[in-house]
Amino acid sequence: MPNHYQSASWASPTNNLITLTTYRYFDRQKLGDILSKIVFCQQIHGDRVIQVSHELTGRPRADAMITDQANLGLAILTADCVPVFIHDQKRSIIGIAHAGWRGTIAHIASKTLLKMGKNFGTLPLDCQAHFGPSIQKCCYQVSEHLADRFVDNFGESVRINRKFLDLPTANKIQLQRQGMSNKAISMATDCTACCPELFYSYRSESTDGRMISLIALRAT
Ligand SMILES: [Zn+2]
Repeated sequence: MPNHYQSASWASPTNNLITLTTYRYFDRQKLGDILSKIVFCQQIHGDRVIQVSHELTGRPRADAMITDQANLGLAILTADCVPVFIHDQKRSIIGIAHAGWRGTIAHIASKTLLKMGKNFGTLPLDCQAHFGPSIQKCCYQVSEHLADRFVDNFGESVRINRKFLDLPTANKIQLQRQGMSNKAISMATDCTACCPELFYSYRSESTDGRMISLIALRAT
């Protein structure tokens, strides 16, 4: 049995960042001990990015959140979709996005980065990004039509064997087009559909179970 949660494989040099993607087995109480508040949005596979604060109540309809506030956990739920974490180290700004195929083709990763720029002055060159575990190109078979749409948007490198998509790479391409460097973006290679003992996968088990991905700034 795995631990309750898995720390993401990247950490800020300033050590003021908490990130994680959960396994199937997860103790929410542990997070509550670390953070004063955790906010979720009502995910709708759209491209809306919102700025959130400790004052937020309820669950706004959106698929990405950004904040400059410490001890505020921004959380999204996934079971195959790509959890996208972004950290502006220079200004201490964070963002998280839920990128399934709809969000990816609507460019939610780059829209999250752009919103950080608009609201807080974030520059892509000051950012690091990480993608948590998601369905990978080994398992993500789609219609030929959808694969064609992805190629139109992101180029031939996101399609494998005609009908398989590489969702993380499509999101990486978005961030690179905004000016982030290749080495500033890391991607988990775990496939949620290949590892049902570790992760929830909508594709492989039609489950209602979801993993939590969360990012937060520590108070300094
Ligand atoms: Zn797989």
